[in-house]
Amino acid sequence: MTGGLAAALLPVVEKSGAIWVGSSGRVRDGVHREPFAEIEQLGAGALAMLDLPAAHYGGYYEGFANSALWPALHSRPDLIRVSHDDYRSYREVNAFMARALLRFRKPDAAFWIQDYHFLALGAELRQLGVNHPIGFFLHTPWPSRATIGCVPHHRELIEAMLAYDLIGFQTEEDRGNFLGYVGSELGLEVADGAVTTASGTTRCEVFAISIDSGAFAHQAQKAMTHPEVSRLRKSLNGEKLVIGVDRLDYSKGLINRVKAFDKMLSDRPALQRAVSLLQIATPSRGTIEAYGNLQGDLAKLVSDVNGRLGEVDWTPIRYLNKGYRQSVLAGLYRSAHVGLVTPLQDGMNLVAKEYVAAQNPIDPGVLVLSKFAGAANELDTALQVNPHDIDGMSRVIAAALAMPLTERRLRWEAMMAKLRDNSIQRWFGDFVGALERAHADNRSHA
Ligand code: UDP
Repeated sequence: MTGGLAAALLPVVEKSGAIWVGSSGRVRDGVHREPFAEIEQLGAGALAMLDLPAAHYGGYYEGFANSALWPALHSRPDLIRVSHDDYRSYREVNAFMARALLRFRKPDAAFWIQDYHFLALGAELRQLGVNHPIGFFLHTPWPSRATIGCVPHHRELIEAMLAYDLIGFQTEEDRGNFLGYVGSELGLEVADGAVTTASGTTRCEVFAISIDSGAFAHQAQKAMTHPEVSRLRKSLNGEKLVIGVDRLDYSKGLINRVKAFDKMLSDRPALQRAVSLLQIATPSRGTIEAYGNLQGDLAKLVSDVNGRLGEVDWTPIRYLNKGYRQSVLAGLYRSAHVGLVTPLQDGMNLVAKEYVAAQNPIDPGVLVLSKFAGAANELDTALQVNPHDIDGMSRVIAAALAMPLTERRLRWEAMMAKLRDNSIQRWFGDFVGALERAHADNRSHA
């Protein structure tokens, strides 16, 4: 969990009594040695962070989760690696995690499972006799029936998901794709957003994840005096700044983004020396071939642009392969005239929301946002782009740089109002409330 999300969620977990279940991101040796899960009691609630058994790193993590599910969920069937051993490893890890979680069971406490690593965890908990409320939230998109159908054992896996009382999606489109699959591929009855099987009902609802915009705005203001942010601002020499912040992932559309920025500069010599792009591309899943290839391709492309267009005192693209703390990022966002968030597919994209929250209300920057990010549903006054259209994006970035203050303010205020209204606290409360209702309904029909 990222720092900002953790800070916003801890107080609500504390009040709700729910057990938030997610991956810790750590790997541990030995498959059967305890503990594999750490639990932190937070008032009536708890946070369970699961460690991955090292023996399953290849099959479960690099394999099924990130080389079959992730590309499928992001509509990249061309990148799917099919391995039945990987699937078995995924199911074993889900079963193992369910056993680790049993220790934390408390009367009536709801389990709230996070993300695509644990699609089958609810079914494994049910197998172990857990009849508490169990909900699941998918942070990624859910693709078409044809695309998810490329994942080996997709039917068995999605049937296992129907052990949850509630499944939360980021957008209506994701929910519709899931229900479409369940109705047409599994032939199950779908009515009013719920799927009924012999063993019960699974409600499917939309909960768009968000941020604590007030806290982020405050952090951004404070970050302006951070030495790293001050150094950036000093180095600009009057240039306008465009910023991109992403994990180095093929879903983020980084190649097309750099090509669009290149085209904008090449077509408009007046913008050369007047603007630069700061692209933070944090390394991610680097041992997986598709990610390694992307890192190489992107580095080559950036160096080509800088070599061709750069001058002794101007670098068009400042390209950084490292991670930054949010306490610094917030100030970098606030220093940028344009935020570029152009994924080919993205569940929500919190960077888009953070960029908006970080702006100076008196002189806000412009968000250029892919229409294929979940955030595009709420942030409809951003300049929305098709990330496959490089020429179109290059024109929109130029328009963003030239946008007058009155229009910038109007667009920004409308986005900020949406963020204030749909806060991370509301997201949490809505999900937990819906989970309790879904579970109570299931019990009354049992
Ligand atoms: N982030 C960070 N440091 C970095 C890059 C990203 O803390 O160097 C954070 C960023 O602030 C955001 C999250 O990582 O909260 C990325 O979330 P997003 O939904 O945009 O994309 P994801 O990486 O989850 O696909």
